[in-house]
Amino acid sequence: MRVENGIPDLEMLPWNDIDIAKIGEGWYSHRRNLEWTMTSEKRAFALTLDLEKDFSGALVDADKILRSHPHITQLLELLQAEEVKLSVFVVGELLEAYSDVIGLFQHYDCEFHCHSFSHQSPHSNSEEDVSRCRDAFIDHFQSAPLGYRAPDGRINSEGIQNLEKYGFKFDSSFFPSYYPNPAKYLFKTRKPHRLKGTQLLELPNTSFSPLRIMLSISYVKMLGMAGFRRLLRVSSLPEVVVFGSHLHDFFADKEMLQQLPRVWKLIYSRNAEKGLKYLTDTLRYFRDKGYRFEYMSEISTRYRAKLDL
Ligand SMILES: [Zn+2]
Repeated sequence: MRVENGIPDLEMLPWNDIDIAKIGEGWYSHRRNLEWTMTSEKRAFALTLDLEKDFSGALVDADKILRSHPHITQLLELLQAEEVKLSVFVVGELLEAYSDVIGLFQHYDCEFHCHSFSHQSPHSNSEEDVSRCRDAFIDHFQSAPLGYRAPDGRINSEGIQNLEKYGFKFDSSFFPSYYPNPAKYLFKTRKPHRLKGTQLLELPNTSFSPLRIMLSISYVKMLGMAGFRRLLRVSSLPEVVVFGSHLHDFFADKEMLQQLPRVWKLIYSRNAEKGLKYLTDTLRYFRDKGYRFEYMSEISTRYRAKLDL
């Protein structure tokens, strides 16, 4: 292995051969026989996709996948064949620039919510970003958005007030995990809940296992399908699962991966070509467990009624 300034070159590690799930499995194998305690009619699975520039715009050619209709169609046809509903959180400034792509998602009956206007993290829940995303959404769809997801979970109390002020019904920005902010989110509830002092519903992104790993296709790729299934078997899952994805999880090519910062390159290179396969396997796993595929709006409506919002 190459060592530079005392730091091993991570790219030289046999990354694709490491079974990450197995490393920690012994810690909680006592939970292996955990019973499913929910009734199946309560279980809902929302597949979400944050529609933004590739890798949050970190590449020179940051719109490559957005310009690739055949790739996007491939994903949407897969979801149609699996009868899975897709909820898209779209960056507001893309609505006009990529109306052709939006049309493609609409053709396959996807629903849309807001993912800030500019995807510039420090400002992603500012009044300007929230209101501009809402305005762009209304201009494009002639209807108001119901839901909001702040990039990288960067929402604060001011942002939540902004969502309420501009008439949003739910937020889905919380990540009850180590990433992106353990101090803020790690011990937050994983269940849908009312945001304190507001009429807003929070539908947190789902984390699982005692390690609180996020349920998203990038983590499935990092764990490998076998490892992911093994962790799921020893995890208790909430009755509502909000599962995350991006287009770059499915279609990043070698040239794109080469441009990423080193740690990202390491993460996204693992099982890089298996995104669609692993997505199919994951969807079927949850279907077999009795989960019903729903839009975020359907889950929001049900829980808002339940919580009297
Ligand atoms: Zn994003």
